[in-house]
Amino acid sequence: MATPQRDYYEVLGVARDADQKAIKSAFRELAMKYHPDRNKAPDAEAKFKEIAEAYAVLSDPKKRAQYDRGGFAGVADFSAEDLFGGIDFGDLFAGMGFGPDFGGESIFDRLFRHRRAGPVRGRDLEVHLVVPLERVDSGGDEAVRFTRMVSCPACSGSGAAAGAAPRTCPSCGGSGRRVITREQKQDKGNVRFQQVTVCPDCDGRGSFIDHPCEECRGRGQIEKEESLKVHIPAGVEEATALRIAGHGMPADEPGGPPGDLYVVVTSAPDSRFERAGADLWRRETLEVADLVLGTRLQVPTLAGKVDVTVPPGTQPDEVLRLRGKGLPVFGGDGHGDIMLRVQVHIPEHLSAQEKALYEQLRALGGGVRKSGKRWWQ
Ligand SMILES: [Zn+2]
Ligand SMILES: [Zn+2]
Repeated sequence: MATPQRDYYEVLGVARDADQKAIKSAFRELAMKYHPDRNKAPDAEAKFKEIAEAYAVLSDPKKRAQYDRGGFAGVADFSAEDLFGGIDFGDLFAGMGFGPDFGGESIFDRLFRHRRAGPVRGRDLEVHLVVPLERVDSGGDEAVRFTRMVSCPACSGSGAAAGAAPRTCPSCGGSGRRVITREQKQDKGNVRFQQVTVCPDCDGRGSFIDHPCEECRGRGQIEKEESLKVHIPAGVEEATALRIAGHGMPADEPGGPPGDLYVVVTSAPDSRFERAGADLWRRETLEVADLVLGTRLQVPTLAGKVDVTVPPGTQPDEVLRLRGKGLPVFGGDGHGDIMLRVQVHIPEHLSAQEKALYEQLRALGGGVRKSGKRWWQ
């Protein structure tokens, strides 16, 4: 490409944390301006492609996350079909005043779909993988088990029993479609309507299977349990979707490539920590005297326990930071921190001796605030 690609957020003129509504309305506004059927400037088409691509990525949470993480490299291997396949352009352009020939679908066909070659690919699959924080910390391979439909090996996907080929549907000649032509009388002569519908005889399959394959009962596909090793990158962010090309559903049309498998990785709930990006938060509840006088604590980390000094005079809700003891920074250098939020335990039942000591402390002015007044005064 001659000119460097512009950041997708910049292209749409939205903030990085813009919600879907803002992204949609920014796109509609720009599309209105640069639609090649309205804007005849020589660069309008290129401009329109740029905003359409930005919208396609940012309007899809999964693609947006991949872009946020990996920039253009994160979305580089998407085909036009990958990018625009899931978008309802008719809905998107509704009420924008484009004529019937200028509708969303046709413009995208014209600009992008011609890049697509061959039959439609199979659907994508999504599986969720929950990994312990230790795995997020170290990265490495995890086994993912999932079920997907695969082409039936017994009949090679035809659905017909061995030696019994499917019979072509005579109504539609195997196309699975039927063209209905109707004529309607109108004031200025007859109008012919042609409508393409699914062949009602074969339900669009184009053929009949008189002797179905026993393995798949004529469906041509069987469910298969699969196991895959997936590499978890160290520090992987919450809900990252790892794309594994070709492991999704098989294509409905013969010869079409299978879809992709998305493994969505989340970290398992952990009794020790709460994860916030690369940082790990933890509450430590201490006795009053420990906060007042300071103490030493043993605190868990992902690499075993460490000693932590709580300085004298530590306040409730204060946060002690253990630098570099958190998770690896995803796609960056170094590690996050462990954050210890200090809580205080106020004793509810005092022994006579403790009570006497607290009273003594109070008499000494230990409970007096800087203003010199107690809260009730
Ligand atoms: Zn038919
Ligand atoms: Zn079969």
